[in-house]
Amino acid sequence: MDFSLSVKHLELQARARQFAEQVLQPYEMECEDNDGLSPESLTAINGKVMEWELNALNHTKEDGGQGYNIFEQMLVDEQLGRVTGAIWDTVFRPSYPMKFASPAQKAEYLIPTCQGKRRDCYAITEADAGSDPTQCRTSATKVAGGWSLNGEKWFVTVGDWADYILLHAHVDGDPAKASVFFVDKNLSGVKVKRTPRYTHHFCYKHPEFIFEDVIVGEDKLLGEVGRGLDYTKDWFVEARLGIAARCVGGATRALEVANEFASKRVQFGTTIRDFQGIEFMLADMAVEIMAAKSMLYRICWGIDNGGERKLNHARVAALKLYCSEMVGRVCDRAVQILGGRGYMRENPVERLWRDTRVDRIWEGTSEIQRVIIGGQIKRRGLEVYTGW
Ligand SMILES: Cc1cc2nc3c(=O)[nH]c(=O)nc-3n(C[C@H](O)[C@H](O)[C@H](O)COP(=O)(O)OP(=O)(O)OC[C@H]3O[C@@H](n4cnc5c(N)ncnc54)[C@H](O)[C@@H]3O)c2cc1C
Repeated sequence: MDFSLSVKHLELQARARQFAEQVLQPYEMECEDNDGLSPESLTAINGKVMEWELNALNHTKEDGGQGYNIFEQMLVDEQLGRVTGAIWDTVFRPSYPMKFASPAQKAEYLIPTCQGKRRDCYAITEADAGSDPTQCRTSATKVAGGWSLNGEKWFVTVGDWADYILLHAHVDGDPAKASVFFVDKNLSGVKVKRTPRYTHHFCYKHPEFIFEDVIVGEDKLLGEVGRGLDYTKDWFVEARLGIAARCVGGATRALEVANEFASKRVQFGTTIRDFQGIEFMLADMAVEIMAAKSMLYRICWGIDNGGERKLNHARVAALKLYCSEMVGRVCDRAVQILGGRGYMRENPVERLWRDTRVDRIWEGTSEIQRVIIGGQIKRRGLEVYTGW
């Protein structure tokens, strides 16, 4: 087995690293100081994403994307994870389930989104439907020529910047008929209820939306009635892999900053890395990143090499759990090593520590990943995790 990266992989990894450092990192303090980026900055970055050919990594070239496989996408995500303020999210990646769109829907939504001319957001979560999306109350009712949509959605990431929403709703209020609809944000009845503030200073916002008798045509249903949860699960696999990769990248930057600081900071007449208490923290950080990275690369490689869909879902849950908890521990130690400076918002370790907290919550909390892993062990045996 050859674990070395090919020339193509190394080029992609280097390009993503340069993009993160040269294009995105200069915007970090604007995002931090203003709790987001200005439309001018977002538009400028959008142009750069296209120029550097990092748009729509996850969609085919025919649909206007880059056609990268899972391993290649992961290589990019890992580097983007070094950036604070979630500015990685400007490197837009149209939602995975749009692969199932009709040719007309691809022409109207997917292709312009891959080309950076439109932007999607995905709305599943509601007040009473979080970890359990079957409790979704947003409904779709058949009317002459289309559908009437009613409900409320929370935490819609990029909802401020996107021009259309992929809306998860239950046809006739029936959870067995969970479905996804394309909803243009400018339609009558689509309203922003409020835009709460969060722990992180994200380059976009996460508004709450109300849908009141929103009428969409029959052609706005994505795929088939009743496939909504399947699409959501596919989206989760892709989103969880992205989280895992970014956690490895963020943890690596935090370690680099802490390692450099520990080499220069002198107290009691010696650099602080000479204190075993500090050196052991650096050692633990490096080992945890190494373990997470090994898992990440191996699972991504497995998915591209014929991994079975259910097994991929099972293993990606373990990966997301481990990487998101790992980055929390690593960033916490980085803050500690930097002492008071680690608690200053102008310092990337403070921002990484705050930004990565959400990785244990979104796209399935740590507890939900453990529920998936426990269920898989019960149904299929330990081999899913230990026998490969
Ligand atoms: C910044 C941010 C951005 C987001 N972006 C989006 C988005 O773009 N689109 C979208 O649809 N959603 C989005 N979400 C929502 C996110 O996916 C949910 O917050 C998440 O799934 C958890 O749901 P919840 O917040 O309702 O928590 P709950 O489901 O109410 O959970 C509360 C607690 O109970 C625990 N719990 C629940 N069930 C179990 C169980 N079976 N066993 C053990 N413990 C359990 C949870 O782990 C958690 O600790 C976003 C959230 C945040 C914070």
